[in-house]
Amino acid sequence: MATIEMKNIVKEYGDGFPAVNDVSIDVADGEFLILVGPSGCGKSTLLRMIVGLEDITSGDMVIGGKRVNDLAPRDRNLSMVFQNYALYPHLTVYENIAFPLRLAGMKSSEIDEKVRQASATLDLDEHLERKPANLSGGQRQRVAMGRAIVRDAEAFLFDEPLSNLDAKLRGQMRTEIARLQKKLGITTVYVTHDQTEAMTLGDRVAVLKRGVLQQLATPRELYEQPVNLFVAGFIGSPPMNFLPAKIQGTQVELPFGTFELPADKAAKVEGRDLLLAGIRPEHFEDVSVLEDVDEARTFEATIDVREWLGDQQYAYIPYDAEPNVQDQLKSLAREVDGDSLRTQLVVSLDSAARETEGASQLTIDLDKLHLFDPSSGENLT
Ligand code: ATP
Repeated sequence: MATIEMKNIVKEYGDGFPAVNDVSIDVADGEFLILVGPSGCGKSTLLRMIVGLEDITSGDMVIGGKRVNDLAPRDRNLSMVFQNYALYPHLTVYENIAFPLRLAGMKSSEIDEKVRQASATLDLDEHLERKPANLSGGQRQRVAMGRAIVRDAEAFLFDEPLSNLDAKLRGQMRTEIARLQKKLGITTVYVTHDQTEAMTLGDRVAVLKRGVLQQLATPRELYEQPVNLFVAGFIGSPPMNFLPAKIQGTQVELPFGTFELPADKAAKVEGRDLLLAGIRPEHFEDVSVLEDVDEARTFEATIDVREWLGDQQYAYIPYDAEPNVQDQLKSLAREVDGDSLRTQLVVSLDSAARETEGASQLTIDLDKLHLFDPSSGENLT
């Protein structure tokens, strides 16, 4: 097992635009770290630099205390699991797992011991004589991991291993990977573009955008305290609502009402004027399900569509923003796509809330309100 230290890592492919731009991340021994971000953010390039499949333009890659910039992939003792598992279709499960050991010239008796140990850990004992075509997607995944385990690699690297699977299997495999990683306690770096995978698997998550590390934090911190608009909009489903916000002293004017800000937030935006408010759908509630209602945080909403999901319901509330405020924000907030500045509020209510369309009394949890600088995207609160 090993630590992985990425120090000011830069990758340029020759077009002058860095695919990875000065990224520094320390992965602790045994930690499960996720690299997440939209397509083209540089996450695969970063992973390929860890494993040695891509040269590093500048910066240091240190694995287990040793600088590996100039080491060939085979000398880094890392194990990579790819999207398609890269299993050999003509070999049995046993031979697929044994493959790297045969390549290394290990004795048959030793290979046998290692394969049997790995297959017991991975619950593959009964399938050792099968070919990959006769395995389920989940079993194939385990074979790929078995091949990684037998090598006693210092760390596991995963590049979107679940993206070819259907939603149900993806969920199962996610749990399986989490369970195995805990059991083996092996340092793991895992690339995905899926925020759910990132949030559920990672001890910590590194969010990347256009080659730049935006935030490195635990899933809870990312959710509760996103550093900027990009992270705020990327993490959470349905996504955070972004709304125009006018600061008036210690109050905030939102499109559906004016509210007194919690003192700590008011202090942080003192003297500001037009900002972008961010509030997650789950931080609203229908007053009909509450025992204590804080009148100062209540507003009337006209719901035009409801979606009932069993344990909760999504309600859609169109609102009118002043057109000039909307335009001003759009031109300032380059970080927010037009879609995020939609003129509807999405709220997630308890399923016990009244299920009628039309006027409803809702409350907003102002302690969970974020206020962003619209031009820098920075979270001020
Ligand atoms: P995806 O999820 O689509 O794989 P990613 O976040 O993993 O995206 P990378 O594949 O790391 O992103 O790519 C980062 C940037 O580097 C992109 O702009 C991409 O076009 C560019 N890039 C990647 N590989 C090369 C290459 N071999 N030559 C030139 N540019 C490349």
